Amino acid sequence: MSVPVLIVGAGVIGTAVACELTARGVACTVIDERDAGGRATQASAGMLAPYVEGHENGPLLDLGIRSLALYDEWVARLTRDAGLDVEYRRVGTLEIALDADHAAQLRATSARDAGVTRTWLDPADARARHPALGSIAGALFTPTHGYVAARQLTAAQAAAAVKGGAAFHRTRATRIERGGDVLRVITSTGALTARSVVLAAGAWGSDIDVAGSSIPPLRPVRGQLLHLGWRGHPIETIIWGPECYIVPRTDGSLLVGATVEDVGFDERATAAGVRDLLDAACDLLPGGWGATFLSVNVGLRPAAPDDLPVLGPDERMPGLIHASGHYRNGVLLAPLTARLIADWIVDEKRDPAFAVLHPNRFFRGV
Ligand SMILES: Cc1cc2nc3c(=O)[nH]c(=O)nc-3n(C[C@H](O)[C@H](O)[C@H](O)COP(=O)(O)OP(=O)(O)OC[C@H]3O[C@@H](n4cnc5c(N)ncnc54)[C@H](O)[C@@H]3O)c2cc1C
Repeated sequence: MSVPVLIVGAGVIGTAVACELTARGVACTVIDERDAGGRATQASAGMLAPYVEGHENGPLLDLGIRSLALYDEWVARLTRDAGLDVEYRRVGTLEIALDADHAAQLRATSARDAGVTRTWLDPADARARHPALGSIAGALFTPTHGYVAARQLTAAQAAAAVKGGAAFHRTRATRIERGGDVLRVITSTGALTARSVVLAAGAWGSDIDVAGSSIPPLRPVRGQLLHLGWRGHPIETIIWGPECYIVPRTDGSLLVGATVEDVGFDERATAAGVRDLLDAACDLLPGGWGATFLSVNVGLRPAAPDDLPVLGPDERMPGLIHASGHYRNGVLLAPLTARLIADWIVDEKRDPAFAVLHPNRFFRGV
């Protein structure tokens, strides 16, 4: 079968790209060996918090701010086109300092991010506004942050893409090679050809054999996420502590994440992971010990050696485009990734971000 664009991987990234391409009238086919969103994406807390996640990383902060700015319109379009609800709320983040040093650090951070509304709350003020909190040394509130339900988002992206004409097939890509002016993708159920192939296979991207190029070395970083039933004072905002974060869902339950573990392709939940997250959550919310334990989810985040996304056309293999390595921020960065990849495929528009994030940055001089 021959298609204009083939997307390998139906996680939050591959489905976002499919959704954007079909909205622009480009026919595409998505292949995955699992259901859409069945890998890292299903474990995600869905936080949209660039000013927290981007503290130490210039390019990441910039990408996160750009993507967050697209979110209102992205979700509105998806719910309209897919006809599915997506839980999405800009409830803000409250970064908690448990000691004086951390409080001083957070206050300095808030002064640095000029132009962003951020409010410092002293301990009494923070606890008056958020009575469920335990003993703290202060907190930094950033109202622009929020979260989206990652599974619902991915399902809506996939549904909108299908309504726009995209096809989804369950199969596994094993090799990509050039054949004349098209790319040939060998899968577990046969070969497909396409003018462009978007590689959005998450942590598994490096397993695919690409003849004539080298796949960036992605590593899996395990994350465990708890789902708790909560009956204490309502939690109105995302709480971000030194060892965990807590995301309040509209049904009153809480997500508590996440471990960051370098254990290879091991997708098991562990007793130690659950214990560490419960300890950290209950340091912030002492009432957490009375919560109901609903579930634990596990995902493998795709991380490049420099922890930045891998985005843009492959210089060694024309037609191959990378959209992976989103590590801890794939949900936040999905709308921007979709836009940049579609801009390249439709108009060959090269976003300035590609200069930093391009896939060949790991192979200079090879
Ligand atoms: C516990 C946890 C919490 C997180 N919290 C957040 C958060 O709050 N905010 C945020 O922005 N991000 C968060 N993340 C990160 C986010 O989930 C990831 O960055 C994102 O899901 C990556 O999406 P992806 O589509 O690249 O990968 P995946 O979701 O892993 O999708 C890749 C897809 O490719 C398929 N695939 C792989 N190999 C092949 C092949 N050879 N052929 C066909 N298909 C293939 C897989 O089956 C899979 O469906 C979190 C992650 C974890 C684990």
